[in-house]
Amino acid sequence: MKKKQNRRFALYVLIILTAVIAVNCKKRQVAEQTGLGRDSISVDTTAKANIHNSKSNSTQAYKDKKDDEESAAANDKNQIADPENQPVRKFEPHSGFVLVRDYIPDVIEDIRYFTTNNFMGEKVNGYQANAAILTRQAAQRLKEAADEFRSMGYVIKIYDAYRPQSAVNHFVKWAQGADQKNKKDYYPTIAKNNLFPRYIARKSGHSKGSTVDMTICDKETKEEVDMGSHFDYFGPPSHTAFTGNYPGGTVNNTHNKNRMMLKRVMERHGFTNYANEWWHYTLNHQPYPNSYFNFQVVDK
Ligand SMILES: [Zn+2]
Repeated sequence: MKKKQNRRFALYVLIILTAVIAVNCKKRQVAEQTGLGRDSISVDTTAKANIHNSKSNSTQAYKDKKDDEESAAANDKNQIADPENQPVRKFEPHSGFVLVRDYIPDVIEDIRYFTTNNFMGEKVNGYQANAAILTRQAAQRLKEAADEFRSMGYVIKIYDAYRPQSAVNHFVKWAQGADQKNKKDYYPTIAKNNLFPRYIARKSGHSKGSTVDMTICDKETKEEVDMGSHFDYFGPPSHTAFTGNYPGGTVNNTHNKNRMMLKRVMERHGFTNYANEWWHYTLNHQPYPNSYFNFQVVDK
């Protein structure tokens, strides 16, 4: 009799233990599905938070010149000015933005604003690494384009991709100053005081994260395909359809064919060219069309 009672007691204990384990398993599943775990749901939550923050920035930061000056002063101390004193956002690989090299391992990154090899001749605020960052959607479509270019014997080279607002502020500040050390190479026919606001604006589509400045290179030699004029040359020779002579060179029919080849392939993969710059492509239906982001370009 006692044996029978003991066995029944053991059975009860077993049933209760099983129930407790089952409840705990279910709790863990629910936690993962709601984004507490490391899955895609938590990624989207972060991306939404970024959009919200960025909208606050874009409505506050550029209402007048004073804000730009304050922003530049803060950048001098290696900080990004934040109009609402929010903590500076860092690039996070899971925040909706990605490193292009994680999608296109053979991409050539020549991020000019990280160097002095650009129209200003100085390193630009906000660039802390030679790294191309894009929204995940743009990187995915660019990978498809790169795959097609590779099958044709080319690799892609990126001059600029995501561009922080702090970098754009730096451009504006420079445009209003006196320095002209790179005039001959970049704006030989345009008076410097006419660069702003026609060529250099207070905001750039690059800050939305789905625009890339790029060209293609020979897969073996890594030499750039000749487009007849170079990246960031200010003026008509950079217009995608331009042909003819200009101070410093010529855009001939071969160059034009190269520009059109770049355009054709990029369009096939969902990008639109900016007609005034043969190198500038924006993803159609970009994920953050109204947000100007301001986290720094880093690669770790
Ligand atoms: Zn561009």
